[in-house]
Amino acid sequence: METKTCTCCKKEYPKTEEYFLLKPIRKNYKWIVHEIFRSNCKKCTYKKSNENRIKKRCIELGIEIKDWDNFKKESLLNNPILQLKNEKLKGLKRSLRARILRKEREENYVFTTLEDYYKKCSENISKAQRKYKYNTNSKINNNIIRESLPDYYIANRLGKSLKDLPKEIIETKRLLITLKRELKNGK
Ligand SMILES: [Zn+2]
Repeated sequence: METKTCTCCKKEYPKTEEYFLLKPIRKNYKWIVHEIFRSNCKKCTYKKSNENRIKKRCIELGIEIKDWDNFKKESLLNNPILQLKNEKLKGLKRSLRARILRKEREENYVFTTLEDYYKKCSENISKAQRKYKYNTNSKINNNIIRESLPDYYIANRLGKSLKDLPKEIIETKRLLITLKRELKNGK
């Protein structure tokens, strides 16, 4: 395979479009891409154009190139949008911050304090549990528990701890309770 040496980094690469950019030239007032490769490899070309961009920006700003990194950091920190977000979520772990921001985005939630955030989350969890356990969104009362016969309720009726009871016993007891109730209601 034919190779080409970059005039900048002096490394040898295959002479293909994967490693070298084609040179545009002007012909009849039009830019056309000529089938000639640039003398610098892609990496060096991109690096140089980035350096040139920074150099130009530094001249505009009236700062020295060696101060560019610090300048960028400073201006990021002073960005009003970032500051606004930082203000209330200051000092929080990144993952927690992300969760809060997602909640704000998706649930119309407005973050005030961490305490409030945890409270809102646990409310949501108990809401989901209610939906799952009792198929209801309303607050749980004795009637709802009595109707839906959750495992712990049955264990209570048997006077035992839930973890000491095999699943079959719970199922049987549930059936018995349902049957008794139906008989009582004359079904
Ligand atoms: Zn190079």
